[in-house]
Amino acid sequence: MAVAQRRVTVLGSTGSIGVSTLDVIARHPQRFRLHALTAHRNQDLLVRQCLAHQPAYALIEDASAAESICGTLLAAGCRTEVLSGRQALCELAASEDSDTVVAGIVGAAGLEPTLAAVRAGKRVLLANKEALVMAGPVFMQAVRDHKAELLPLDSEHNAIFQCLPSTFRTGGLIPPGVRRILLTASGGPFRTLDAAALATVTPDQACAHPNWEMGRKISVDSATMMNKGLELIEACWLFDLGGNQVDVVVHPQSVVHSLVDFEDGSVLAQMGNPDMRTPIAHALGFPERLDSGVEPLDLMAIARLDFESPDMQRFPCLRLAYEALAAGGTACSALNAANEIAVAAFLAGRIRFTDVAGLVESCLEQTRINELATLEDALAADIEARRLADTLVQGLEVRT
Ligand code: NDP
Repeated sequence: MAVAQRRVTVLGSTGSIGVSTLDVIARHPQRFRLHALTAHRNQDLLVRQCLAHQPAYALIEDASAAESICGTLLAAGCRTEVLSGRQALCELAASEDSDTVVAGIVGAAGLEPTLAAVRAGKRVLLANKEALVMAGPVFMQAVRDHKAELLPLDSEHNAIFQCLPSTFRTGGLIPPGVRRILLTASGGPFRTLDAAALATVTPDQACAHPNWEMGRKISVDSATMMNKGLELIEACWLFDLGGNQVDVVVHPQSVVHSLVDFEDGSVLAQMGNPDMRTPIAHALGFPERLDSGVEPLDLMAIARLDFESPDMQRFPCLRLAYEALAAGGTACSALNAANEIAVAAFLAGRIRFTDVAGLVESCLEQTRINELATLEDALAADIEARRLADTLVQGLEVRT
């Protein structure tokens, strides 16, 4: 029987998630047609993607870049229409001409377009965890109000989704019988490095993840373990859990992607090679299973699976995320904003790796925590925390 073709928009197509998504989609031309691709600055890759995939639309932030891409595409006989700007980005995310939106923009910049897709009732494949961390209650209420279908792409959350009863949908209550979830963490590139050595690690060392190839921001988050903190918050919103129902387990092989612990003592895990094409294929095809191009798991080659407790002394960002979650209101919006500023400053060589956690902590101590009831509340907290974090970065620069 022929399957209806899905029309897909990929927000952040030039990033690591975007590229993996296009790889899976290209394996299934009968099932998927690309409606739109969006980039921020990477003009060259966007052009190559348009030539290879012939989407109806492409979008880049800057208007003059859009004009130049348009000329290149026309000369090559490609009929993709090229747009620019934030408003067009949100309009594309909500367009009636697509039914599936992959949220692969990094950071707070992804919130408004992803929310636009949710409000248009799309199937939204969420990689952009920062959107949920910033505005969890508003985002999940929009999922319910607009009957959007929110499927997690983050490998851990996708694993949990796969282990929950098949009737569970995000936006609903956690099914009875779930005791807790166990979020696995690789521990990042500095898992075994002593505390003193952490102060001098470079951005390139932080971005050299042992198991996953990812964009630079999430790679640094993974090295500080803030990524697990953001995922903890993401999990609580996606699966209707309190922070006390989510434990983090360090698992250096990144083969077990997360686990669900049930009241009867059963613990279900999802396993696979560390390759984002698996969760992407799962969510694109849901509830069917599609070929993702990922090699079968070879347990004999892996031979052993190790598990250990996270070290919150050397990696305080995870503790800060638990604390922000417990504080509620706009605390998680502030945590996310301060972290984005700190990570950008570390990547630019302005502050040390170990300054990231200290900066986020100072920012959380000094910022006002307000009620989070609307998108505007989240955006205001984001702006205030960024301003404060910027000032703190300048203070740290003076000392280094
Ligand atoms: P990348 O840095 O590789 O890609 C980010 C994408 O977002 C690029 O297409 C980039 O465009 C675009 N972008 C950046 N800034 C803006 C902006 N201000 N406005 C619009 N678009 C923008 O990131 P990843 O693919 O690694 O991560 C994307 C998201 O997925 C993150 O939230 C991350 O936490 C999450 N995630 C990633 C995983 C991974 O394996 N990579 C795993 C699980 C979650 P351009 O290239 O043109 O600059």
